[in-house]
Amino acid sequence: MRIIKIAKNAGFCFGVERAVAEALKIQKQYNKKIYTLGPLIHNNDVVKHLEDNNIFSISLENIDTLENGDVIVIRSHGVAKEVFTELEKRGLIVKNATCPFVTNIQKKVEKFSKEGYDIVILGDENHPEVMGINGWCDNKAIITKDGLLPDNLYNKICAVSQTTEKKENWDKTLDTLASKELEVLTFNTICLATTERQESAEELSKKVDAMIVVGGKNSSNTTKLYNISKENCVHTIHVENSSELPEEYIYNNNFKSIGITAGASTPEWIIRGVINIMQDEINNKEDQLQMMDQMDKRFIIGDEVEGEILSKTRDEILVSLVGYKSDGVISFRELTTLCDSTEMAEKLCIGDTIKAKVIKLQNSDGYVVLSRLEFEKDAAYVELQTLFDNGTIFDAKVDEIKEKGLVSYFKGARIFIPASQIDTKFIDNKDYLKGQILKVKLIEFSLGRTSKIIASRRVILEAEIAKIEEIAWSGFNVGDIVKGEIKRFAKFGAFAQVNGIDGLIHLSQISWKHINKAEEVLKKGDILDLKIIDLNKEANKLSLSIKQLTPEPWENVTEKYPEDSVVLGKVVRLNDFGAFIELEPGLDGLVHISKISYDRVLHPSEVLTIGEEVKAKILSVDAENKRVSLSIKDV
Ligand code: SF4
Repeated sequence: MRIIKIAKNAGFCFGVERAVAEALKIQKQYNKKIYTLGPLIHNNDVVKHLEDNNIFSISLENIDTLENGDVIVIRSHGVAKEVFTELEKRGLIVKNATCPFVTNIQKKVEKFSKEGYDIVILGDENHPEVMGINGWCDNKAIITKDGLLPDNLYNKICAVSQTTEKKENWDKTLDTLASKELEVLTFNTICLATTERQESAEELSKKVDAMIVVGGKNSSNTTKLYNISKENCVHTIHVENSSELPEEYIYNNNFKSIGITAGASTPEWIIRGVINIMQDEINNKEDQLQMMDQMDKRFIIGDEVEGEILSKTRDEILVSLVGYKSDGVISFRELTTLCDSTEMAEKLCIGDTIKAKVIKLQNSDGYVVLSRLEFEKDAAYVELQTLFDNGTIFDAKVDEIKEKGLVSYFKGARIFIPASQIDTKFIDNKDYLKGQILKVKLIEFSLGRTSKIIASRRVILEAEIAKIEEIAWSGFNVGDIVKGEIKRFAKFGAFAQVNGIDGLIHLSQISWKHINKAEEVLKKGDILDLKIIDLNKEANKLSLSIKQLTPEPWENVTEKYPEDSVVLGKVVRLNDFGAFIELEPGLDGLVHISKISYDRVLHPSEVLTIGEEVKAKILSVDAENKRVSLSIKDV
């Protein structure tokens, strides 16, 4: 039984796959013959496939043969800046399919050469990617193939690497630079896709009897895989596709285990072709291919990343993600909620570092979509958790009015204030609260799929009221005279607020005279002196009196109203047996019907009217029974 193993990381990398897919998409869009500047990929089978789809390679030397309006695609290796200008000057439609990882290097090189650094590129000076990168620093880069550098270096250095370079060469470059005693800035721009493929090939080639490296003969990264594998496994071969497989690799039963790896420019269908022709047991084939599919996914949604700002457009910021093959993009609206996002974007500078979270693995341009706002929200959640744990009161601006309550955004995190928690009383129309700052406290805090961050203003108001009431009650004593404001009326009296506590002035305690309704003598908002006549804190009962602050009218009545004297009074009630005359509030005297007139009177109303002022003689005063007898006719 023969085992065929596929290297854990093998085949198409993100950048090449993206460039091929882009070219096919662009061709469909223009529906005519389109061109790529140089072969899109170092793989003859794929080149043939592209040609079948009306996509042809053209070199810069032959560019004159193209016409105005022809479409040309820049391959994943990228090109020098001036090449873009040149192509556009010729009226060509230029589509850029440069691998974002390579774009990242170009931008770094451009930035730091402008800042006065000498650029060092580790790589092959004749490789299109290196030539392209060099074109972003006016072709002045010092290019080293093996990490060795000239002695006459005096300026500050910025070093980058060709994406397909070996790690050991990069280490050598760093060693050389370290010995120079210069200001050095280094960016390890070796693409992980390359490193991973090389490491996987290294690992697998040590374990198998034979290795097959699949990929274009002119592909540098495939050649590197071949060299690495050959060092570990003497029976290593390099084939472009299944048709080149030697018979001994198909039928040789001495090869009990065969390893397969493929360069970054080898599509899955070519690898499958090789595997299929082996016609043998394919151990874990599906698993392995699945692994291949996943080999470039290194982010997950929600990952926190930090990167350097590479450029800004009218509504986006491009961020370099060190160690990742693609750059990230943050739209202005995902920048912040703490201030105007456009203003914030203006303040950010190229070269600044920025933290954000991954919200989409890849957009249509191949960028990782980031949100700084989501990152900001995380910090807000931490802050909110502390506010919740400590029961801290904080300011919340009302951003939205909802049917069931209010919404406030705390540094991007949504807080809900239910209608029942806005005030101590139910508020029907909440619209006036929009934009207002409320003091609130969190009463519920849970994160997860259904995050709940609930705040309340009511608990704060209730606590304040309770505090005020506590102080007020402790200051009350029966007999105290206090100031109170009339707040509302009831059938049995009026309620007045004293130091925040509602107290009752019973109808009988409003005046010494008889009154039917409290509103007859009081009105809302009146501020009066009141006497505390009873209190019960536990039952929340405070009894107040107005009348007890004025003298009892029947006190000293005999001295005030001596018999036979004549008084002026007001008719207040009439009935069958006579008329009641008010001498002062709370003190009425009775004129018997027989004492009204010398003429015959059948009913007092025949001669008297309510409210009329009359003079009367005091016939007798009975202080004990609170009776005063009067006579009008004897005056
Ligand atoms: S940089 Fe990496 S991902 Fe991009 S094309 Fe090169 S090998 Fe592929």
